[in-house]
Amino acid sequence: MELVKITLKSGKDQSVRRYHPWIFSGAIKKIYGKPQEGDMVEVFDNHDNFLATGHYQSGSIMIRILSFVREETGISLIEKRIDDALRYRSHLPFVKSGDTNLMRLIHGEGDNLPGLIIDYYNGVAVIQAHSMGFHRIRNEIAGILMVNRWFPVTAVYDKSEKSLPGSSGVTAVEGFIAGSAEENVVTEYGNRFRVDWVNGQKTGFFIDQRENRRLLGEYSEGKRVLNLFGYTGGFSVYALRNALSVDTVDVSARAMEMADLNVELNFPGSDRHRSLVADAFEYLGNAPERYDLMILDPPAFAKHGNVLHNALQGYKRLNMKAIEKIEPGGVIFTFSCSQVVSRENFRKSVFAAAANTGRKVRIIHQLTQPGDHPVNIYHPESEYLKGLVLSVD
Ligand code: SAH
Repeated sequence: MELVKITLKSGKDQSVRRYHPWIFSGAIKKIYGKPQEGDMVEVFDNHDNFLATGHYQSGSIMIRILSFVREETGISLIEKRIDDALRYRSHLPFVKSGDTNLMRLIHGEGDNLPGLIIDYYNGVAVIQAHSMGFHRIRNEIAGILMVNRWFPVTAVYDKSEKSLPGSSGVTAVEGFIAGSAEENVVTEYGNRFRVDWVNGQKTGFFIDQRENRRLLGEYSEGKRVLNLFGYTGGFSVYALRNALSVDTVDVSARAMEMADLNVELNFPGSDRHRSLVADAFEYLGNAPERYDLMILDPPAFAKHGNVLHNALQGYKRLNMKAIEKIEPGGVIFTFSCSQVVSRENFRKSVFAAAANTGRKVRIIHQLTQPGDHPVNIYHPESEYLKGLVLSVD
């Protein structure tokens, strides 16, 4: 089938020539025809030189590029990309460790499949399509996953209702699109978690913090731990391996129920854990308890560049409170998962927070996302998770 041709304005081909996978609506000169949401289109520069093929979508990011060369861009290309992504993951150290059975299988741009997220929970693959291009071929993708050579997949769940852009006018119906599964307990470095892909945030679990949770575990011996924005208790379970006590705080009552379940799953009958439904800022402001290890893992304060300033203020306020409150010699794991907040900006907010308290603060680790969330070197935005481990005297 003939693909619709789209030309770019003069000079707007530069980022494409540097392999950036997004083309914004402002770069487009002319659309030859009427592409449907999710159609594959061909992109040319101002002088009609071929640049790329990608998924068309109305909205700010208008084209998500799948290929920078002229090649067959049907389902066989997607199959090859998925196969590449899974093969590479099969060599990752945490996979080989044998005590972890959840991971991100496809990380969008990081796996040259912009618009597609797939997470893996012990045999269940959960798809999140961020583009109509991938939503339209979800069943083919499910078929590819079910027969892949690398990781056994027994069921595929589509969780795209919230991720599909509103501009598409399409609402995804969530549910299993291949096989089905009841069992939802996964193992991460020997820690067990119940994952709720139906009602949970993202695909049900924050897989991206795996290595950081593990590091946190190493710091928790004998400590009084406060896990703020704790969600389903990921950090708390790791901490409880050898902490004195762990308090988990989240505004979501449902999250705290899940955290309690996960603690019970790993430490039946333990009295070292408390879950508290509260606003993290307020809790930190009023907390009478003394803590010597804190985790600050808030949701993305900035989803768009125009609220960047407020987001940076938010990080500053939160970190200031934590630095003020922590016991001398304490350690703070502090994170930002906002794509629009750069590592540099995040660090500046934490710096400003520290300076305001006047305490001595050292950075002892700089953290990021793990290897199953690879960063496409041509798409710096795919590096979204930033963390600092602070030692506070
Ligand atoms: N650390 C978690 C992921 C955190 S996601 C993990 O490793 O799994 C962010 C969490 O912050 C969500 O569960 C959300 O309910 C919670 N949240 C958002 N705003 C909050 C606030 N003001 N106070 C406390 N929790 C909040």
